[in-house]
Amino acid sequence: MTIKHEVPSYLTQHGIGPWGDYLEQIDRVTPYLGNLARWVETMKRPKRMLIVDVPIERDDGTIAHFEGYRVQHNTSRGPGKGGVRFHQDVTLSEVMALSAWMTVKNAAVNVPYGGAKGGIRVDPKTLSQGELQRMTRRYTSEIGIIIGPNKDIPAPDVNTNEQIMAWMMDTYSMNQGSTASGVVTGKPISLGGSLGRREATGRGVFVVGCEAAVKRGLNIHGAKVAVQGFGNVGGIAARLFSEAGAKVVAVQDHISTVIRSSGLDVAALQAHVNATGSVAGFSGGEEISDRAQFWAVDCDILVPAALEQQITVENAASIRAKIILEGANGPTSPAADDILHENGVLVVPDVIANAGGVTVSYFEWVQDFSSFFWTEDEINLRLTRIMREAFTAVWQLAEEKKVSLRTAAFIVACTRVLQAREMRGLYP
Ligand code: NAD
Repeated sequence: MTIKHEVPSYLTQHGIGPWGDYLEQIDRVTPYLGNLARWVETMKRPKRMLIVDVPIERDDGTIAHFEGYRVQHNTSRGPGKGGVRFHQDVTLSEVMALSAWMTVKNAAVNVPYGGAKGGIRVDPKTLSQGELQRMTRRYTSEIGIIIGPNKDIPAPDVNTNEQIMAWMMDTYSMNQGSTASGVVTGKPISLGGSLGRREATGRGVFVVGCEAAVKRGLNIHGAKVAVQGFGNVGGIAARLFSEAGAKVVAVQDHISTVIRSSGLDVAALQAHVNATGSVAGFSGGEEISDRAQFWAVDCDILVPAALEQQITVENAASIRAKIILEGANGPTSPAADDILHENGVLVVPDVIANAGGVTVSYFEWVQDFSSFFWTEDEINLRLTRIMREAFTAVWQLAEEKKVSLRTAAFIVACTRVLQAREMRGLYP
């Protein structure tokens, strides 16, 4: 008799997924790395990958199992750092790619971290609060053998937030017998979180958006902005653009798309999303049923701030924006990048555009170690300075080498990572 077993998702054919996009990006940058190219294989191999079973008792007494991951892509420049995602489509390939993009991002903006990422393959909307807490705590316990304030520091990502970080911090602290606030960032302020962290990624997107607009001769006041994803990143970015006088003409989330050519009332939309969980049903705009139409919306600035692999060969040619700000990680495939480049669309890559979150996470971690907390003005000033400097350095290199901003950012980052690797040498 043949017994049919369920094949674990990391062994099924999800394909190479986002990890394939990342590998192609590394191939594109390799010719620019000079002698460091002999170390480039380091970038193509995650240092450590942990796959864990996360069992919980459901409220009805049944037992459910979820698959969890923590990938430490590279720690040459410092401890691993990167978010934790709870989503039904999480795969090992996705977490590998996200961890690698963290290595590149942390080096591109020069914060002293390597790259890591984690996730659980689960739709958290199907869990009660109690189940969510039990799952988070068990996951934290399982990955507890490789995380720590000096080893690898998780943070929020899609469908995770301050509350999840509080549970993670508490679980880790309970297991080791003393409070370790620096084990995660993106915590509530009352537990050692940083002022400005919640808004940091969206604020960083806005700051580099303003820099890119100057380069393109575009006035933010009156500019038309379209945003995909209205969560932490997209919601804040939309708010800041709207406060600066831009018109947010389209917003898409996982359920619906709302448009209004004269500009949506972002504060009212946020209140609607807080109350209902989605932009669907918002009365201050027109809902369109064909999701693909979002990409062809008449806009100046497009902010993909949802998931990876959204801008592809299927829709890249229809994009009318002058500037794309990648709030999400990995939203654009390499082939789509080429189409956008040919069409003169300026793409500010994820590893620069959304680096505001990890930058303020770095501030939070530093504040936790010193137990001395900064004002929100100090945080925002330092964040703005780092984002502008990173953008300018990458812009200048792109001009000098005649490459895209993505390739320039990867040159800066890979050079830093591989120099560190070379100087440290191979152990033993
Ligand atoms: P979030 O959970 O707060 O919000 C995600 C948003 O994306 C929601 O509005 C959701 O409805 C929408 N969405 C999900 N699937 C979608 C789909 N198929 N089509 C359209 N919209 C969809 O998550 P977040 O923290 O805002 O993260 C969004 C992106 O930004 C992710 O790629 C994440 O890795 C990246 N990012 C987040 C941070 C951070 O600090 N939170 C930092 C850097 C990068």
